[in-house]
Amino acid sequence: MNKNEIYETLEKLTNIVSPSGHEDEIRNTIIELLKPYADEIWVDSLGNVIAVKKGSGEGRLMIAAHMDEIGLMINHITKTGFLKFTPIGGWNPVILPGQRVLIKTKRREYVRGVIGMKPPHIMKPEEAKQAPQIEDLFIDIGASSREEAEKLGITVGSVAVIERNIAKLSENVVTGRAFDDKIGVAVMIEAFKNLEKPKVDVYAVATVMEEVGLKGARVAAYSITPHVGLALDVTIAADIPGVDESKQITKLGKGPAIKVMDGRSGSGLIAHPAIKDTLIQLAEKHNIPYQLEVLTGGTTDATIIQLTKEGVPTGALSVPTRYIHSPVEVLNLEDALNTAKLTKLFAEYIDMEWINKYLKRKIK
Ligand SMILES: [Zn+2]
Repeated sequence: MNKNEIYETLEKLTNIVSPSGHEDEIRNTIIELLKPYADEIWVDSLGNVIAVKKGSGEGRLMIAAHMDEIGLMINHITKTGFLKFTPIGGWNPVILPGQRVLIKTKRREYVRGVIGMKPPHIMKPEEAKQAPQIEDLFIDIGASSREEAEKLGITVGSVAVIERNIAKLSENVVTGRAFDDKIGVAVMIEAFKNLEKPKVDVYAVATVMEEVGLKGARVAAYSITPHVGLALDVTIAADIPGVDESKQITKLGKGPAIKVMDGRSGSGLIAHPAIKDTLIQLAEKHNIPYQLEVLTGGTTDATIIQLTKEGVPTGALSVPTRYIHSPVEVLNLEDALNTAKLTKLFAEYIDMEWINKYLKRKIK
């Protein structure tokens, strides 16, 4: 395993536009990347990619990483050719003005636009102090009429994302768009590629529509009925000026975050203790740095996998990431590499005996 491979995959994936519900293009790339290592691979009816590596024994592990990203949906084209939009997933509107965007057209080509705003020169002083509201924003594509925009293939329902290339800030620290959760997918691919003789069948699932309600993972888990679930996603690294150390959640470069709890007051996932503890033990045994993650807002596919059928003991590993849900997300490639290593170790370690011993609770 190496971090350059993870970087290459991440670059490939972040170059693809994949807002929730529009994962067709990224799906093809992920199939190409997983197929050579899978015993079986298919796409389910919602569009999840499911790749299986057969184990030498019984049992099923589902690893999930979402391939969708937050985006924008055009909901109106003005007579003068500007595009009004509504968010897909959780945006802070402060991020949006001043960005370039790519809008996917009917012909599956891209049109470039910019999110404009009234210049400060013509704002009232009170107005200049206020954060923008999404309803006040618009995309300028250089068209002068609705007809001109429509001719380019833009309609109500066209989707857009912020345009931004991946870049290195230092040898290990990279910045870019949609690392949430393309880094999770890249980590999953790297771990899956390198799996050696797992005992359980390992299902690597690139899920759809996580950002709009954990939808893909819900149906994929239902069809797989795993014994164990593991989600791979990003988590907050707020190790930045102005944030008290007690509120930083995780720090960049200090290793994968082993999830303990997420969602507000635990409304997301409370990780299964045996999964969390096994991840800790494996990290310690193999000298992989790690952090424990108690996230106070937001959650992952793990939350919905856990609630499948009679219940699936589930945990999660996260890559600490700064500025999540912005086009300048920042992560450390060493953290990503170590997340892939720990995922592989866990997938190779568990077997039916471990599952029966630690996860099954039957009272006679
Ligand atoms: Zn995510």
